Amino acid sequence: MSEPSKADFGSSKADSGRREFLATSALVAGAALISSSAATAAIPAARIGTSPLVQPALPFADTALEPVISAKTIGFHYGKHHAGYFATLGKLIAGTPMAGKTLEEIILATAGDAPNKKIFNNAAQCWNHNFYWNSLSPTAQAPSGALAAAITRDFGSLDAAKAALTKASTDQFGSGWGWLVSEGGKLKAIGTGNAEVPFTSGQIPLLVVDVWEHAYYLDYQNRRADYVDAVVAGRLNWDFAARNFAVS
Ligand code: FE
Repeated sequence: MSEPSKADFGSSKADSGRREFLATSALVAGAALISSSAATAAIPAARIGTSPLVQPALPFADTALEPVISAKTIGFHYGKHHAGYFATLGKLIAGTPMAGKTLEEIILATAGDAPNKKIFNNAAQCWNHNFYWNSLSPTAQAPSGALAAAITRDFGSLDAAKAALTKASTDQFGSGWGWLVSEGGKLKAIGTGNAEVPFTSGQIPLLVVDVWEHAYYLDYQNRRADYVDAVVAGRLNWDFAARNFAVS
């Protein structure tokens, strides 16, 4: 007999961390829905946990991150790479039960599942890029409130937290992502390779920096560290991180 299909979204692979993530995500959605900030209302934190299989609109104009990230980079990154992951995912799951699921359900059902690696990679890259766009801010921000206090508690200072995120992002070997996450109530900076996603192992993502070459090569060529430094210094959306932290 064949093995149970990974297209069956039963509970066999769902550990407590994953269930916790989905429960948390529902809370994130609620938090975003009651946000009164017009500036952040478009940020699709509301879609964490229930992300559709269509590419969300960018939360800013393609020129909004200049000079740190150029409109040309955003054009290729959002319009070709990110869009391409959605297009490929759609082809891979067409006509299967996964076509009616959310991105998160597909990611959790295929994580660590070699036969479905291609589906996982494309779904996770869709999700990671959704999260990346919302981790970026056209204007420099600083964390405040509970998140600021947790940063001081766990890293010692905001500068130390930024240094840890910078190091995790810069040191990631090859293609991947640098993340600020909350795990068991403690903040950490981590790197993941290729399309890997923290929430598959119970870590709640707060912010992410894309360190695939396509994220920076047009603007910085091989100078990944310069790109990471510029993003961490002045283009992180700490308001988005605070709302993710509030329900982590
Ligand atoms: Fe990317």
